[in-house]
Amino acid sequence: MQLFQNQQIKIYNSLSGKKEDFKPINDGYVGMYVCGPTVYSNVHLGNVRTFMSFDMVFRYLKHLGYKVRYVRNITDAGHLENDADVGEDRIAKKARLEEIEPMEVVQRYTVDFHNILNTFNFLPPSIEPTATGHIIEQIELIKTIIDNGFAYEVNGSVYFDVHKFDETNDYGKLSKRKLEDLIHNTRELDGQSDKKNPQDFALWKKAEPQHIMRWPSPWSDGFPGWHLECTAMSTKYLGEQFDIHGGGMDLKFPHHECEIAQNEAAKGKTPVNYWMHANMLIMNGKKMAKSTGNFILPTQIFSGENEHITKAFSPSVARFFMLQAHYRSILDFTNNGLLASEKGFNRLMDAVNDLDNLKASTTTSFDLMEWKQKCYDAMNDDFNSPILIANLFEAVKHINQVKEGTTTISSEDLIALKETMHTFVYDILGLKDTSNEGVGTDKLSSAVDLLIKLRQEARANKDFALSDKIRDELANVGIQLNDGKEGTSFTLN
Ligand SMILES: [Zn+2]
Repeated sequence: MQLFQNQQIKIYNSLSGKKEDFKPINDGYVGMYVCGPTVYSNVHLGNVRTFMSFDMVFRYLKHLGYKVRYVRNITDAGHLENDADVGEDRIAKKARLEEIEPMEVVQRYTVDFHNILNTFNFLPPSIEPTATGHIIEQIELIKTIIDNGFAYEVNGSVYFDVHKFDETNDYGKLSKRKLEDLIHNTRELDGQSDKKNPQDFALWKKAEPQHIMRWPSPWSDGFPGWHLECTAMSTKYLGEQFDIHGGGMDLKFPHHECEIAQNEAAKGKTPVNYWMHANMLIMNGKKMAKSTGNFILPTQIFSGENEHITKAFSPSVARFFMLQAHYRSILDFTNNGLLASEKGFNRLMDAVNDLDNLKASTTTSFDLMEWKQKCYDAMNDDFNSPILIANLFEAVKHINQVKEGTTTISSEDLIALKETMHTFVYDILGLKDTSNEGVGTDKLSSAVDLLIKLRQEARANKDFALSDKIRDELANVGIQLNDGKEGTSFTLN
């Protein structure tokens, strides 16, 4: 018996605009696709929030006993600067500006992306495919769409015929747009003259002579359109129809709308049963943007080196802060919000640690099973992490009361409470107990400072053999002493 047989999840489906009972296509198995990053710059905190929402979904589905195949792609080609299929390829542009190979750009920012996600304690997806690794699948998909009459070639480029598609299908059903309105609101841009209509989108683009990222195809040496890779890779790894497709709200149109159109045009099937969209992250009530200075990098949260925050915050505190908002709500990133979350996080962790030292009685004076189901109910209700966290604080209250002796818990219930708290705090919310880290670092600092002092004394006594020994032995265990004008400091290697 798996937990999912007792716990019915409801998911807010962006396609229907309603919360629906989640029923996977194959009993016990879930296929989930999430649009990954375009790796041409450091990962944006807003993207971290989106991926964190789906990390939580992945964790919860796994906890319920589902066998989940979670596919999150890396876009390493084909994403142009402008949604209207004009402008430079983002990765090629960065490569040109930095005078390095496009694949060096891809490598650098893929590594950065993984480092940041590891720091935030993300689980890796089951498959992380790249666009450049699936050029053949994309070319095959284009051939099928052309054969089915929904795409046309002009001067070596291939475009999806949105008007033709809309005659038999419904273009705009996900983002609730009508083609007539789109026609009204589209301005003709330079470089679009190849298209029959401005609403059409590129499946294949012929590469300009100076464009470095190019592959041979039946139509031209060129590169795939951005929307195509997700259709090719989701079909390859999850099938023509799968359970959950996720991404940031900003991808709903045109990206996800185009994914649906490509699938329906190629296979005649609507690809996804549940579309999930994570909302935006803003900072201090305003859109985050490098150009306005209203901006913070994830690494600056951990170092505290940013004018918008007063101190450094641990990755778990930042994670806790983000999960205190529901994934479909806008999250406002503020220093005060982080400070409050840090207090809450410490209180939660103290209570979890206190569970090891609580004295059990013969009876329990609160309803443990009812509380536990409330935790599940919160997650079953469209992954409502803020309500779950509120329920966890109910338990914190009980733990503190048992500690003070004003209420009781039986030894059996104490084991169950500990197990449930660990499950929700560590496995599902993905938090890590960092409350001891600071203490550990402080102790290490004091110990190394003491050795630095002893080394200074040795040097003052001209005992250079001893002073060198202290320096070398510390280096051996990864502690580097740096002698400077202001004295000696140390770094951990
Ligand atoms: Zn995508």
